[in-house]
Amino acid sequence: MKYIFITGGVVSSLGKGLTAGSLGALLECRGLKVCTQKFDPYLNIDPGTMNPSQHGEVYVLDDGTETDLDLGHYERFTSSILSKKNTFTSGQIYASVLQKERNGDYLGKTVQVIPHVTNEIKERIYAAGEDADVVITEIGGTTGDIEGLPFLEALRQIALEREHENVLFVHVTLIPFLKAAGELKTKPTQQSVAKLREIGIQPDVIICRTEIPISDDMRQKISLFCNVPVKSVIEELDLKVSIYELPSLLHFEKLDDIVCEKLHIKAQPCDIQPWENIVEKVKFPKRECTVGLVAKYLDVKDAYKSVYEAIAHSGIQNDCKVNVEVIDAEELEQTDETNEFFNDIDGILLPGGFGNRGIEGKILAAKFAREHCTPYFGLCLGMQIAAIEFARHVLGYDDANSTEMVSETSHPVVHMMLNQRNIKKKGGTMRLGSYPCKLIPGTKAYEAYRSAYVNERHRHRYEFNNDYRQQFEERGMIFAGINPDFDLVEILELRDHPWFIGVQFHPEFRSKPQRSHPLFSAFIAAILKKKGQS
Ligand code: GLN
Repeated sequence: MKYIFITGGVVSSLGKGLTAGSLGALLECRGLKVCTQKFDPYLNIDPGTMNPSQHGEVYVLDDGTETDLDLGHYERFTSSILSKKNTFTSGQIYASVLQKERNGDYLGKTVQVIPHVTNEIKERIYAAGEDADVVITEIGGTTGDIEGLPFLEALRQIALEREHENVLFVHVTLIPFLKAAGELKTKPTQQSVAKLREIGIQPDVIICRTEIPISDDMRQKISLFCNVPVKSVIEELDLKVSIYELPSLLHFEKLDDIVCEKLHIKAQPCDIQPWENIVEKVKFPKRECTVGLVAKYLDVKDAYKSVYEAIAHSGIQNDCKVNVEVIDAEELEQTDETNEFFNDIDGILLPGGFGNRGIEGKILAAKFAREHCTPYFGLCLGMQIAAIEFARHVLGYDDANSTEMVSETSHPVVHMMLNQRNIKKKGGTMRLGSYPCKLIPGTKAYEAYRSAYVNERHRHRYEFNNDYRQQFEERGMIFAGINPDFDLVEILELRDHPWFIGVQFHPEFRSKPQRSHPLFSAFIAAILKKKGQS
């Protein structure tokens, strides 16, 4: 097994996850089987309970593991389907050590960071990617953080335990441009590499995130001070058009050659064409449309990361530049001029969410879409909102709601799932992960999927209340997808509407740049059809 360890220097938010994913993509282009894995140094045990406005979206895996959004990058850039073996926090590692200590597994020994915590980390790296050729492990945070030290120590030990040619260290760092001096600066990188070397880690490759190209002199300098060959100083420029340019950019810098050479991997030549095709499509779209994303996390794009990516994928699929205009759900609910918000919008997308904030605005958006024949796509909460709106304005139940918002509503068209009612703990207790959905032939959903059964990822506690099914159906709502085991409504769609679909799951987690999710593609296709551009 070959191991690639990715660390970060100087600042956070360098896009280490994108770099790790892109390196995975490159190695797959060379015919290798890759496994990607992430360790996060924070102490939370359940990333699912972390606030998206601080930490970005919670990404969900097939097996129901709630994770950091970098796992989304890994799944979008590589063909791997990840599981709980691919993601760990310090909290989970420490919890496991403490549990073992309580069980008496350490036989009364003093329990310490080295070796007990570091052993737990190493075990998880060694257990990853049973049938992969290469495991890529990203360490979250920045070199120099106190909480990251046990991870770096574990990596150092792995380098000692495995042959030299089986381990490669990649350090992703920032080369800041100082406007006043008109110069790029390498000192922070030198210092962050010095920190790594202090711990006993000598990076093999330095990936330099930079706004402007780095000169040969600069490469020489980084090489000299950081003790890496010049060719292993890789430039990673800010991406202009799309994140999917990154595999080609790193290939141009010969990253895959360097990695294969150092790890003694005999791989086929790199077939980068599929990634170049994607970038080509992004660069030269034939059409354009605008989707209104009715949201409550306004300044943090990462809070809806996978939704943005799935929209971009459906644009690639439809040869279309899809602009996303964020509409503030709370502002929407405070105005009488709802229609003004949708003047330049071709389709409305309601993402998932929790709690009361902005709910009435979201309901107004669904109403607008239904009444104006505007294509509508509701994800999870977005489906529940569509149901509430329909109950209020078509069935005439003025106070219809989800019991998440108003527990005493007389028309709980969305209510808590039975098996959720006695759960008190918040961490990892929702309906999580992949569940089957049976599609009803003749529906728009079926037409999009072209399949009778699909599996989709879930993350919710509430569901459509089946007591209302008949009344909804009588007035033109179709239940286009049903969970066959528990008879839960998974997809609803309006009969007399060009394209109005709500799904109880999160299709955005299964969309890939080469294979846009069928419902996202159909949503954009419906928008283009309505605009007369199909
Ligand atoms: N808050 C809703 C529920 O728990 C929707 C969740 C979501 O959108 N992910 O059912």
